Amino acid sequence: MEIYNTLTRKKEPFEPRKDKKVQMFVCGPTVYDYVHIGNARTFVFFDVVAKYLKHRGYDVEYIQNITDIDNKIIEQAQKEGADPLEYAKKYSEIFKEDMKALGVTSPEYKNATDHIPEVIKQVQTLLDKDNAYVIEGDGIYFDLSTFPDYGKLSGRTAGMADDAVSRIDDSDKKRNRGDFSIWKFSQEGDPSWPAPFGDGRPGWHIEDTAITEKYFGPQYDIHGGGQDLIFPHHEAEIAQQESASRLKPFVKYWMHVGFLVNKDQKMSKSTGNFETVNELLKKYPKEVLRFYLLSAHHQSPLEFNEEIMEASKQGIKKVKTWLGYIDLIITKNFKIEKEGQFRLDILGEHFEKAMADDFNTPSAISMFFSLINESNKDIQNQLLDASKAKDMKDWVIEKNKIFGIVPEIIEIPKNITNLTDQRESARKDGKWDESDKIRAQIEKMGFGVEDTIYGPLIVKK
Ligand code: AMP
Repeated sequence: MEIYNTLTRKKEPFEPRKDKKVQMFVCGPTVYDYVHIGNARTFVFFDVVAKYLKHRGYDVEYIQNITDIDNKIIEQAQKEGADPLEYAKKYSEIFKEDMKALGVTSPEYKNATDHIPEVIKQVQTLLDKDNAYVIEGDGIYFDLSTFPDYGKLSGRTAGMADDAVSRIDDSDKKRNRGDFSIWKFSQEGDPSWPAPFGDGRPGWHIEDTAITEKYFGPQYDIHGGGQDLIFPHHEAEIAQQESASRLKPFVKYWMHVGFLVNKDQKMSKSTGNFETVNELLKKYPKEVLRFYLLSAHHQSPLEFNEEIMEASKQGIKKVKTWLGYIDLIITKNFKIEKEGQFRLDILGEHFEKAMADDFNTPSAISMFFSLINESNKDIQNQLLDASKAKDMKDWVIEKNKIFGIVPEIIEIPKNITNLTDQRESARKDGKWDESDKIRAQIEKMGFGVEDTIYGPLIVKK
């Protein structure tokens, strides 16, 4: 397997630090609003990464943080007259529900505010090692002049750091321009925690390294996030952890997901050009959203618009229809004399090759559609027997554990199958009026019947 590593700017063979064990961390949301489909791109992609690695036999420990204390949360909560921690808790719960509804099941979530002792420990270590200094009445800052490696991930330097002076890092008393706060002293109305160096709250970057140090130790295998986080956030994480432990590399493989763009602009909460997962899930099934999100290579930009969503919907409909035929062939135990040419083993090889090549999801997904397109020909020509249909279905169901793009097969209620049988016998007896009436009755109950060469195919409307 190969992974493109932002740190070395090339694809590298994937060799986790400890045999088959993989420790992976991905930056989660700042919970002051609903998550949007751009955030979901990152979360769905790493869900697939974790599931694929498990499929390859790795023992994956996947953690994602939830930033539940931050300037934006405090500002937003104050605007609405709410307690910031309660406010964050509400959106954190909504986030987890949205992820569940989207089939993102692999990460273990860790709240920043549940790890204050670990943050305090790391801040103290950085003070003790002279990597950090105090600005009275303000906070504790990381001193970038103590970390010459700063910029190795992004190819940028602290001097270029206009956007490093973000969120809570602005102070004219800093030693160096790009120095960032690791602890902010208490201010009126802000949530605050007691600490030996002065009560306050964590800086933006420190929660991640405090959390990963607790669960993984000072070094681990994969760190992921969106490309917007390479600088300064991930650069700052490297500075913190490699200074605290004096060990490098902090992370072996850095992976970054390209932006989801809406009308030529990165989708983001701050600009307001976003579509929430919560709303989109009311319009599209999770399979359609996942299919769309995985349809581009993770490092490329991905556009959002109604036409693309409609095309994704049609793609998933095709999968659903195909599965209906396959099930029909299996339940009828259809036998044939001459077999079609389709080779499942070759398809499997292509699938694994695509995924092993830096998780090329669009190429891997195209294997689902090759299978469907090719086997559809055999289906139409009655060249597919039940046992091969079963192998194909098993193949799709197995691979779908990674992708989550195949609609769930719903059990057809007994009264619907009974009505379909009655309609069939009416048709056989040439009672067309009766057959039409039964079809209308079935449709009223939310199902449809299509007459195929294999008999009636029942579909949920
Ligand atoms: P945030 O809540 O803004 O910190 O973002 C949470 C996660 O979503 C981070 O890993 C971001 O890098 C990622 N993210 C934010 N916006 C986008 C976008 N438009 N496309 C892809 N990933 C994004």
